[in-house]
Amino acid sequence: MNSVETITHTIFIAEPVAGSEKIKGTPMTYDFYRNKIKGTSPIYAPNYIPEHEELPEKYTCTICKYQYRNSLIPFDELPETWSCPICNAPKSVFRKED
Ligand SMILES: [Zn+2]
Repeated sequence: MNSVETITHTIFIAEPVAGSEKIKGTPMTYDFYRNKIKGTSPIYAPNYIPEHEELPEKYTCTICKYQYRNSLIPFDELPETWSCPICNAPKSVFRKED
């Protein structure tokens, strides 16, 4: 098993070697969590989006395509030392989306 560290997550990469046919159903993917369980990102998470507010401007990392959109902390107010939470690229590589 391998793992990749990011600032906010540890991503584990593994190949399943055994399972059970007793357990049926939809696997717990992030899409399932968001759409079926109605899970949302915590208010201070970089991908937090308020439900009934106008969406803030979106900035995209030109290295890994991570998208920053957070109405609590606009991109312009992030410190210059801020870096991409996925690939650690500096703030200067982000481009505003139209
Ligand atoms: Zn990035």
